Parts: sequence; C-alpha cells; structure tokens
Amino acid sequence: MSRGKRPKWMIEIAIERMNILFDRADMEFITHPERSNRYVELALKLSTKYNTPVPEEWSRRYCKECKSFLSPGRNCTVRLVNSEVNIFCGECGHVMKIPYHKEKKFKRRAKYESRQKRNDE
Ligand SMILES: [Zn+2]
Repeated sequence: MSRGKRPKWMIEIAIERMNILFDRADMEFITHPERSNRYVELALKLSTKYNTPVPEEWSRRYCKECKSFLSPGRNCTVRLVNSEVNIFCGECGHVMKIPYHKEKKFKRRAKYESRQKRNDE
C-alpha cells in the first residue's frame, strides 16, 4: 500500500474534481449523454492518477465494464436482490453487484489518518 502516496490535500482536490465531473455528467445526461461518458472517463483518470477511489455516492453511477454514465430509469436498472444492489447496465448488459451494507468503520480505519493528524495541527 505504499505505492502512489499523495498528500492529503491533493487527494481532497481529486475527490472534489471527481464530484464536480460526476455532477456535470448527471446534469448533462439527458441532453448530451456522450458528454457524460467523457466526464466519467476524466473522473476515472483522476481516480487512477491520485490512487483515490471514486466517491461512494458516484461509484454506482457508472458501468465498471463499459464506463458509461448510468442514470437509473434511463440506461440502467437498479434492483435490490437479497442483500445486494444489482445494477444492470443498459449499454453493455453488464450487471454490477454491490453488497448492501452500511459500515462506518472503514472511514476511521484509514491507516494514514493518524499520521496526517500530526501534520494538520
Ligand atoms: Zn456497461
């Protein structure tokens, strides 16, 4: 896990940019779906570059397979099956299965959190 370490502020900027890109993708989807896919592409590049996962609220809004932006009721279907969220991509037919659990643990358990605190204060 020591690969691609980035300062906290950089990661925060990356997350903010990803949020902005997905927001735009969401807004423009109705009129310009191809632009939405471009925004997703850019956001995923940021994610890779900064070694930072896509914000959770957006991670189910694009297809992991074809990278299309997904808009429930338009080009994807979301179903709750057992304790999984199944997202069916209408673009390529890929089904993503996301375990449906609410855990707050991992937020606090980030390993560099303790190290970062010293720098913050
Ligand atoms: Zn797809």
